[in-house]
Amino acid sequence: MISFENLASKVKESNPQADTDLLRRAFDFSATEHAGQTRRSGEPYVSHPLEVALLVADMRLDDVAIAAGLLHDVVEDTLTSIDQVRELFGSEVAHLVEGVTKISSIQFLSSEEKQAENFRKMLLAVVDDIRVILVKLADRLHNMRTLGHMPEGRRIPIAQETLDIYAPIAHRLGMKKVKDELEELAFRYLEPKAHETLRTWVEKRRRATETAVFDLQETLQRTLAAAQVPFERVESRIKRLYGIHQKIKRQRISPEKVYDLIALRVITPSVRDCYAALGIIHETWSPVPGRFKDFIAMPRANRYQSLHTSVVSGRGVPFEVQIRTAKMHVIAEEGIASHWKYKEGRIGVKPDEQHFAWLRQLLEWQQEVRDPREFINNLKVDLYPDEVYTFTPKGEVKALPRGATPIDFAYSIHTDVGHQCVGARVNGRMVPVRTRLDSGDIVEVVTAPGRTPKRDWLNIVVTSRARNRIKHFIHADEKLRAVELGRKLFGKELRRFGLNVKSVLEPVSLRRVVDDLDVQREDDIFAAIGYGKVSALSVLGKLVPQQLKEPSGATSVGAVVRRVFRSKEDTVKVRGFDDLMVFRARCCNPILGEKIVGYVTRGKGVSVHAARCPNVLNLLYDPDRRIDVVWEKSEGGKGFVVLLGIQVEDRQGILADVTSRIAGLGTNLLKVEATSGDHHGRIRFTMEIEDLKHLQRLVKVIRGVSGVLEVERLMH
Ligand code: MN
Repeated sequence: MISFENLASKVKESNPQADTDLLRRAFDFSATEHAGQTRRSGEPYVSHPLEVALLVADMRLDDVAIAAGLLHDVVEDTLTSIDQVRELFGSEVAHLVEGVTKISSIQFLSSEEKQAENFRKMLLAVVDDIRVILVKLADRLHNMRTLGHMPEGRRIPIAQETLDIYAPIAHRLGMKKVKDELEELAFRYLEPKAHETLRTWVEKRRRATETAVFDLQETLQRTLAAAQVPFERVESRIKRLYGIHQKIKRQRISPEKVYDLIALRVITPSVRDCYAALGIIHETWSPVPGRFKDFIAMPRANRYQSLHTSVVSGRGVPFEVQIRTAKMHVIAEEGIASHWKYKEGRIGVKPDEQHFAWLRQLLEWQQEVRDPREFINNLKVDLYPDEVYTFTPKGEVKALPRGATPIDFAYSIHTDVGHQCVGARVNGRMVPVRTRLDSGDIVEVVTAPGRTPKRDWLNIVVTSRARNRIKHFIHADEKLRAVELGRKLFGKELRRFGLNVKSVLEPVSLRRVVDDLDVQREDDIFAAIGYGKVSALSVLGKLVPQQLKEPSGATSVGAVVRRVFRSKEDTVKVRGFDDLMVFRARCCNPILGEKIVGYVTRGKGVSVHAARCPNVLNLLYDPDRRIDVVWEKSEGGKGFVVLLGIQVEDRQGILADVTSRIAGLGTNLLKVEATSGDHHGRIRFTMEIEDLKHLQRLVKVIRGVSGVLEVERLMH
């Protein structure tokens, strides 16, 4: 078992300024808290956090992260609380420990590829500090190294999770060494037979292979030197078992056919030398067609850069050569960790726009970073600012846009689940449908049969899927009602003229009306009537013009369509339509002279809103049902009831002053309520107003009264 001194000297070596006192305290605390616990290997438990801390130090992370490595299991596995950690080691260490604990508590249950990808994103989304992920990777790496001590039943799920989740995360972060080791270990436990066969196969060839590798390496060094191509070193290796295994599986070939069982690597000082070396290699051995790849000109998403080629040696042994600069090599091996140096004592790297660009790409940074320096200094990141990752009760991950509600979640499962959603249990607690979901939430939709979508859901959902389904439902539902209402209105009109349905609805003239109105079917005619787009009378006029005798006066049928009838409320009319029920919307209570818009409600006629009304934007999502409305001067009609709220200073006589000014303008006051307190008074006037000009004059006059602070029109 390694000791704390091993860790301390390792840290001192790479970072002389590290706070070893902090590390010592963290180790002592961890050892005390885990005292009495043992690992499956029989070793004292603290050996695990110590090894993890060592791996974190290997990644060249700062002392805070190493301390977190020492303490990463105390909250989960001992009686220590996170507050205690914060008190003793500061909020930064506590934050990391909390993050690691949180990740460990999330269970991954599915093995579907898409689910795995969402799950990886979820892990990255629940942390706001990349060091949390790195400590977790170190934790997982040590657990994989010691997996053999676990009971057999536990090995497979842990190895599978490692392969599905943690190795790809390491890959995404560009940490090849960690990724490779995780994969090798997972392979060994997941497919012990294949692993053993392959291991023996490679072992048998090892001696021959190693000799071949050595020869090739020497030849390459000699040739490069002779051609005066600068290079730092030539490395060689035998390919990893998991790599060979994948290749065999993917290409369905025998191990002999795996080209890069042997791989050479040339490390050069500059990019130009890479291409020079490539030329020499292709001159010396014959290249395998189609195997050359230029990842220098076209770096991979994790910013991996290298030239790859496969060649065949004089003895017919195929092998792969990678060529890259020393800098590219460090990035390839250590990825994100390669950027944290201890030059400045702590993590803070010299801001280097190129590196940030890479980090952004690497982490699928989806938003503009406002200040990259701030980002790297704090290492506080929101890796997926636009998405949240949630679970179904069965452990399936649902990726949703940020701001998503249980309704969005419900529609992502099934349209019917969405339609009948009445609420949800989030992490076991019942919440309203408008709750915003967070990453890691376990969401169980609560449905009630027969319930239907509400119109105001359109204001709270964020997914287009939910929006479309809700709209679709509401449209279909409203159309149904409109058809029903249209039939009724039509029937009423028939009775008015003493006609009977059969004689009127004969196919030929019906066809004409359908064409005329540019609709598809008979039902659509009634829908149009129901929506108020066309009047029953005008439809009737098209069907049986000769049978229509106006009850009063002699208006021709053609004129009926365009004629404007007065609405129930004499002051508003609808342009181009007759017979429509028109009413002023109560929410905004528009008054004569105000800009207004009409909206055809389902079966209740046209509601007229003020253009300023906040409901208008939401209601008018269906432009088809928007209708032009205009004011019509009423002859000596009654006024509009308006409610004004006035804030005044609390001085004697102010109410009388305001009231007399209002009366002075000939305004009819209906009700006055006054309250005071806090040196301010509030007065609410309900009054009758003639039109907008009247109201504007009135407001101006009231504002002129000394002591009046604010005047505003209130909703009723
Ligand atoms: Mn652990």
